[in-house]
Amino acid sequence: MNLYDSVQYLKGVGPKRAEKLKKIGIKKIYDVLFYFPRDYEDRSSITKIRDCKNKEKVTLYVKVSGSSVTLRPKKGVSITKIPIKDDTGLAYMVYFNQPYINNTFKVGDVIRVNGRVNISYGQIQIQSPIYSKGKDNSRVGSIVPIYPLTNKLTNNEMIKIIKSTIKTYTSQLDEIFSLKMRDELNLISIDEAIKNIHFPTDRETYKKSKYRLVFEEFLILQLGLFLIKSKLRENKVGIEFHKYDRSEEFLNKLPFNLTSAQYRVFKEIKQDMESTKVMNRLVQGDVGSGKTIIAILAMLKSTVSGYQSVMMAPTEILATQHYDEINKLLKDFGIRCELLVGSLSAKEKLRILEDVKNGNIDILVGTHALIQDGVDFKRLGLAITDEQHRFGVRQRAKLSEKGKTPDVLVMTATPIPRTLAMILYGDLDISIIDELPPGRKKIDTYAVNNTMKSRVFDFVKKQIVQGRQAYIVCPLVEESETLDLQSATEVYQEIDELYKDKYSVGLLHGKMKPSDKEDIMNKFKEKEIDILVSTTVIEVGVNVPNSNIMVIMNSERFGLAQLHQLRGRVGRGEYKSYCILINESKNKVARERMRIMEKTTDGFIISEKDLELRGPGEFFGTKQHGIPELKIANIFTDMEILKIAQKEAQKILLEDATLNLPKNIKIRNRVDKLINENLKEISFN
Ligand code: ADP
Ligand code: MG
Repeated sequence: MNLYDSVQYLKGVGPKRAEKLKKIGIKKIYDVLFYFPRDYEDRSSITKIRDCKNKEKVTLYVKVSGSSVTLRPKKGVSITKIPIKDDTGLAYMVYFNQPYINNTFKVGDVIRVNGRVNISYGQIQIQSPIYSKGKDNSRVGSIVPIYPLTNKLTNNEMIKIIKSTIKTYTSQLDEIFSLKMRDELNLISIDEAIKNIHFPTDRETYKKSKYRLVFEEFLILQLGLFLIKSKLRENKVGIEFHKYDRSEEFLNKLPFNLTSAQYRVFKEIKQDMESTKVMNRLVQGDVGSGKTIIAILAMLKSTVSGYQSVMMAPTEILATQHYDEINKLLKDFGIRCELLVGSLSAKEKLRILEDVKNGNIDILVGTHALIQDGVDFKRLGLAITDEQHRFGVRQRAKLSEKGKTPDVLVMTATPIPRTLAMILYGDLDISIIDELPPGRKKIDTYAVNNTMKSRVFDFVKKQIVQGRQAYIVCPLVEESETLDLQSATEVYQEIDELYKDKYSVGLLHGKMKPSDKEDIMNKFKEKEIDILVSTTVIEVGVNVPNSNIMVIMNSERFGLAQLHQLRGRVGRGEYKSYCILINESKNKVARERMRIMEKTTDGFIISEKDLELRGPGEFFGTKQHGIPELKIANIFTDMEILKIAQKEAQKILLEDATLNLPKNIKIRNRVDKLINENLKEISFN
C-alpha cells in the first residue's frame, strides 16, 4: 500500500471512519500525514505540588501515598479521593461517580497525572485527571497534539490514526530537497518534520519541524507564482506601443507638476508598454498620491498608438468621477471617452457598445458592467482596474480577456509590505508611489467619545458657515444592507432635524438607485448639499476638494485601512481638514487603534499596525487574491520564513528558470501539482 491509497485501508479505519475523515478533507493516506494539529497541550513539563495554582491545568509526577476514600454524599453520587505526594507536598486526585477507579491505583505506584487544580479549604485537588503509569507517557508527560476536528471524531481517535500512519508510512515520503540545500537552509528531513509536527518531543524539535514545513509550503507557492508570471510573459507577445505618446504636451497643460514618484512610476509603465512584453503591473499608492493621473497618462499613450483603453472602478460614483476627470484633462486631445455603468438606459448602452465595437470610442470607463458579455472592443490595448482590492482575481482577468493581449494595470490604495505583495500579487510587477503631492495639509484627527456628539455637530456647523462641506459616515452593520440603511437613515434624520432650513443635508447609501446616487453626488460636488450622510459607498476614490470634515460614527467597527481610506476623502483642497472618529468602545485594542489614527497619516504604517492589532484573518482574505489555503504556513505570522523562501525561490529560478534541471525535478513536480490543483484561477489568464 502506498501514500496515495485511500485512508480506508489504514489499520483501524475502515469504511465508516473513512467517511468521517473524508468530511474533514482526508481522503488519502498522504492527507493524514499532512493534517496538522491546530494546537498542542504541553503535558511534558512537570509542576510541583507546592506550586499548584487554583484553576490551572498541571501535570504532576507523583507517588500514590495512601488508599482511596469514596464518599457518597447523596444517592447516586460518589466522590473518590486518592492521595498523592511528591517531594514538596500532598494533593488528591478527585473523581466523580467513578468508584471503581480505586482498583486502578496501588499505594506506591509512580504516576503522571494531568488535570485542573481546584484548591478547596486549603486542600489541593486535581479534578478527574488523566494519568499514565511508569514509562508510558503517551497520554501524560508528552506534548499532545490537538487536531481541528468535526464533532464526529475525537482527538484521541485522531491521535491513534495519525500515530499508526506515521509508523508505517513516513518512510515513503519523498524528500524534495537535496542534502546540500537542506544543509544550507537548516532544514530537517521531511520524515523527521512530519513525525515531530504531530508528536514533538520538545519545543526545539517542534520549531524545527514547523520551520521545515512552512518553508516548503512557501517555497512551492512562490515558485508556482513566479512560474505563472514568466509563463504569461513567454507565451504572449504584447503590444509595442509607440514611444511618441503626447505625454509632454499633456503634462505641460496640467496645472501642477508630477511628483518624482509619479514620474518614476509612469516611466516604469512606459517601459512596459513600449516593450513587446505584456504589462502586468500593480501601482500601489496611498490615498491621494495621484494614481488617476498615471492611469490617464497610460491611456493617452495607448490612444496615441491607436488602441482602445478600458478602466474599471468598483462604484458608479467613482467611475463617473474618473469619466469626468478624463474628459476634462483630455478634451484638447480629440479623444472620445464614454461611461458604461449599470444605470444607463438600454438605448444609451446599445449605442456605446456599438461604438466600442467599431472602434469609435477610445476610452471606456465603467463599473462591473464592463466585464459582462456583449462588451467587445475593436482593438483593446490597455486594461486598468482601479481600487483593485475591491475586485477578485477572476474579475481582473475577465477585464483583460476583453482584448487579445492587452497591457494590464491595476491600482490599489491598500498598501502592503513587499513580501506580502509578492505573494498576494505574485503574478504582477509592482510600482509604488511613495510620495504625496506637495502642499497637502495634515488632516487633524480626533477620536472622541459618543457623548461628544453634539459638540462635534456644532463644530461641523462652524465649518459649513465658513463655506465648507462635511461627510458623516455610518458603518456597515454586520454587512447587512438593511441594517446599514437603517443606521445611516437614522443619523440622516437626526442631522436633518438639527440643521433644517439652514443647511442642506443629503443621504447616500448602497441601496439607492444608481441615478439617485449620482444625483446626490453631483449635488454634493456642486455644493448644493452641505452635509453628506453616507455609508461606506464613498470609501473609495471620491474627490470633492471643498469638503474638509469627515465624521465617522461607530468608528471602532472599521478596519484601520478603511478608516484611512475614508479620511482620505478630505484634505484634498486648500482648506485645513479634520477627521473625527466617534466611538463607543472601551476596549484597549480599540482605543489603541483610534490612537494610531490620531498619530499617523502614513498608509503603510497604518496597514502594518492594523495587521498587528487585528491579526491576519480579518485583514483581508487571501481567497479573493486567488491564493490557495495554506496548510501550515501563515503569510502574516510567518513573514520571516516567507522572506527566506522568496529569496531561495529567486535563487533557484536564476539558475534554472523552468525548473528543468534534474536536481530540481522533484520540486518541479510539486509546483506543477500546485498550479494544476490550486492556482488555476491565476494561471488561467
Ligand atoms: P488617488 O491616488 O487616491 O487615486 P487621485 O488620483 O484621486 O488620488 O488624486 C488626488 C488629487 O490630487 C486629485 O485632485 C489630483 O488632481 C491631485 N493630484 C494628483 N497628482 C498631483 C500632483 N503631482 N500635484 C498636485 N496635485 C496632484
Ligand atoms: Mg484613486
